[in-house]
Amino acid sequence: MFKLFSSAPVHDPIGKQKPIDEIKKTTCYMCACRCGIRAHLREGELVYIDGNPDHPLNKGVICAKGSAGIMKQKSPARITQPLLRKAGSARGEGAFEPISWERVFEILSERLGKIRATDPKKFALFTGRDQMQALTGLFARQFGTPNYAAHGGFCSVNMAAGMIYTIGGSFWEFGGPDLERAKLFIMIGTAEDHHSNPMKIALSKFKRAGGRFISINPVRTGYSAIADEWIPIKPGTDGALFMALMHELIRKEKFDAPFLQRYSNSGQLVCLDAGPEEGLFLYDPDSEQINLDLPHNKYVWDEKTNRARPCFEAGVSPALKGEYIMGSGPHAGKKVAPAFELLRRQVADTTPEWAASITGISAERIRQLANEMAYAAFEQAFELPIQWTDVWGIEHDKVIGRPVAFHAMRGLSAHSNGFQTTRGLAVLMSLLGTIDRPGGFRHKAPYPRQVPPNVKPPSSEADIKPNTPLGKAPLGWPTQPEDLALDNNEQPLRIDKAYSWEHPLAAHGLMHNVITNAVKGDPYTIDTLMIFMANMSWNSTMNTMQVRELLNSKNPNGEFKIPFLVVCDAFQSEMVDFADLVLPDTTYLERHDVMSMLDRPISEFEGPVDSVRIPVLPPMGECKPFQEVLVELASRLKLPAFTTADGQRKFTGYTDFITRFETAPDSGIGFLAGWRGKDGEKSLRGEPNTNQWQHYADNNCVFQYHMPEEHHYMRNWNRSYLDFAKANAIRQKNDPIMIAVYSDILQKFRLAAQGKRPGRIPPEHLKKRIEKYFDPLPFWYPPLEEEVTDLNAFNLNAITQRPMAMYHSWDSQNAWLRQIHSHNYLFVNTKTATEQGIADGAWIWIESQWGKVKCMARHSEAVDPGTVWTWNAIGKAESAWSLAANADESKKGFLLNHLITEELALGGFTVSNSDPITGQAGWYDVRVKLALADTDEPAETWPQVKAFTVPGMPLGKNAKNAGEFE
Ligand code: SF4
Repeated sequence: MFKLFSSAPVHDPIGKQKPIDEIKKTTCYMCACRCGIRAHLREGELVYIDGNPDHPLNKGVICAKGSAGIMKQKSPARITQPLLRKAGSARGEGAFEPISWERVFEILSERLGKIRATDPKKFALFTGRDQMQALTGLFARQFGTPNYAAHGGFCSVNMAAGMIYTIGGSFWEFGGPDLERAKLFIMIGTAEDHHSNPMKIALSKFKRAGGRFISINPVRTGYSAIADEWIPIKPGTDGALFMALMHELIRKEKFDAPFLQRYSNSGQLVCLDAGPEEGLFLYDPDSEQINLDLPHNKYVWDEKTNRARPCFEAGVSPALKGEYIMGSGPHAGKKVAPAFELLRRQVADTTPEWAASITGISAERIRQLANEMAYAAFEQAFELPIQWTDVWGIEHDKVIGRPVAFHAMRGLSAHSNGFQTTRGLAVLMSLLGTIDRPGGFRHKAPYPRQVPPNVKPPSSEADIKPNTPLGKAPLGWPTQPEDLALDNNEQPLRIDKAYSWEHPLAAHGLMHNVITNAVKGDPYTIDTLMIFMANMSWNSTMNTMQVRELLNSKNPNGEFKIPFLVVCDAFQSEMVDFADLVLPDTTYLERHDVMSMLDRPISEFEGPVDSVRIPVLPPMGECKPFQEVLVELASRLKLPAFTTADGQRKFTGYTDFITRFETAPDSGIGFLAGWRGKDGEKSLRGEPNTNQWQHYADNNCVFQYHMPEEHHYMRNWNRSYLDFAKANAIRQKNDPIMIAVYSDILQKFRLAAQGKRPGRIPPEHLKKRIEKYFDPLPFWYPPLEEEVTDLNAFNLNAITQRPMAMYHSWDSQNAWLRQIHSHNYLFVNTKTATEQGIADGAWIWIESQWGKVKCMARHSEAVDPGTVWTWNAIGKAESAWSLAANADESKKGFLLNHLITEELALGGFTVSNSDPITGQAGWYDVRVKLALADTDEPAETWPQVKAFTVPGMPLGKNAKNAGEFE
């Protein structure tokens, strides 16, 4: 129910209206897909939004969320003025006083200035699903704090890291399935509309062209509903399926041997002798070093001459099986095997029968699946007559298409075994030869990058100094234990313990542990925590009720354990209540923004594409874009990148910063790739051009660079593309990017744990953990939570996905979208529910060993019987997001987060409930049981939590159609 203050309808299709007098183009942000949109205005008022037909990403297509953006603008949950918590009030009480922006900057400059001058790591900046990490990361680096990350650690870092550490690229923004040419498409572990409009457009074309679509997922909704076949799978077991598929393909010799021999490290020789070289590739000290950081001068066993030879020597034919003894030379007498031989051994026992008992998919179906994949890859292979030259100077007159494509996401990632599972998928794709080839997986600029990218995180106390930018980027890609972020006592350098021995390859940080760690003072306490766009007291956190208590916890002296909490949000989320200082953000329709090549652009397979947002409306009330806040703060703090040589402010504001900032003096590389150079005549690289914004405004807010056809495929090894990428700073180097079927990087950590390697070693209690999980080859293990769970008592897996019509928690303040979802159900297979006497619509308790929640059950045939699921973030605290106290969201909607722990006690020590390699939050590992609620219990969800309305709400007096939700 929605009560309007104004009698004027938002959009009256039959009433007499003045004509639309203005159409402005910008980029949608109702989800992360970033479609081009047109905002239609009448006398300055937004009347409706449609898709921009001239935009390369969505070509005019718009979804329900995108067109409902107008109601985000008219939401009564907008925060319209800066707020300071009243002295003496408790966090969570909602007791705020409005203050001016000048006062905000005074408070922040003074506080952050002191921190920066003393101990910069006492300032932590963590952000949610924003699209400006190049700026927020730059701010943190310039400030000098390592304590920075965005939402990736609790979202899908396993997908990013698992793929990037294997093939140098990843699904979603950085690559995807070539559905235009694929014949078979396997979607696994993907939410019901992940990659929304672009995927829907591609899928409809694919299906019309006769493609076969198989969905592997515990739940059949969204995309899975139109799949030709749905294969339900038990959550957390996808890795076992991949191992069995690899077993089958290798057993039947159905893999792309020439591709693996030339383009991966499959043929390269691994030392089998015990000692510091064990499990590492042997290097040829006489060979020319192509890349000093990650040398490619390894050996293969040449089948023609039956001896070890440098891997890239002309004419070699690398063996993919067997064990050998190195002949004369620097490694004489050492026992070696090609990496692929070790993969053969790794999958020798991972039979379809083995995987059937884990995944719930029959052995026969797994065999068929392997056959179908092999058939598509090899029997339906085709050629495109595209000439290209590889990095070894070999000219090719075609590229080979292997038309089997995959798409995978959070269903694989959000488990504590997700990194190795994702490695399994990437190696499976490599066996099929589908990497950057027609019909398979294809990269999008700025990927492919090195395996992994040549950026390292801070690795010692010396990297963090008062009043000094960090020596390294706050987030990077370790390749050896020496890259870990450890202090002089080998303790974590970061508040979230990313890049420590607990989570060595935590490429996106562990935002989900920041509050708990900071309150515990483990590894240390901080002073100021700044949170942007993340609902850390509600749906973005595990163990929600406990975290809410932690946010309010105090030291014996009465001071909060996290002394100062700054929250920037456009809406009254549950997190706003806990802030000491609230910064009112703008909506996406009120600000400038960039989707930059330095960050996460909207590139296409055929070349780099970046885009912008340009305001179509003025900011409401005193709202200010967080981008502007950061540039202002950086200028006042005199961070070097924001300050001239004579100590003056360098940029007038965000738009000026975007056009004039360069990554290095005179590098010609900045945030926007289009219309560079004095007159806008240059692309990708060129002098700053202050007219860039106007060029983007004149061109649908998007810049598209069309690469020549010879750059479209095989980019990991494509001479001309790699030279182009280096010349335009898309990559640092132009050497080949070899697929790491075998990861010697992981092996270095394992050797350290085994005490076989000089250098850093893990603490005693983590040695076994590192040794087990840092397997250089993919493997499957049960999610860690199962080690401490009674699987008989808690007999069901519980998972969530975001709904098609809402993006996480963003849309419960949206009057149109909440007509689709005002509350959620727990979806239970009809058979499972009936066995427990649970009727459709019944109130039930769902309980894990960590907590319980009351909710309504919904029978469903579209879920595996051993799994229950719901949409995330529909349930809200009472009165949050300007919802009425009796709104469905707080009375019927519920959060599964209450059932999930953020820490696990494993073998005598406590660690984050996360992947032991990357720190990815193990959201989908929780096990639950169900029970009917008593008939005399109130028909409402539990726990009940109250939020508060903050000053300045509902909307400012200028807004029309403001309302409050009921
Ligand atoms: S798919 Fe996402 S970006 Fe595209 S119109 Fe829908 S909400 Fe907007």
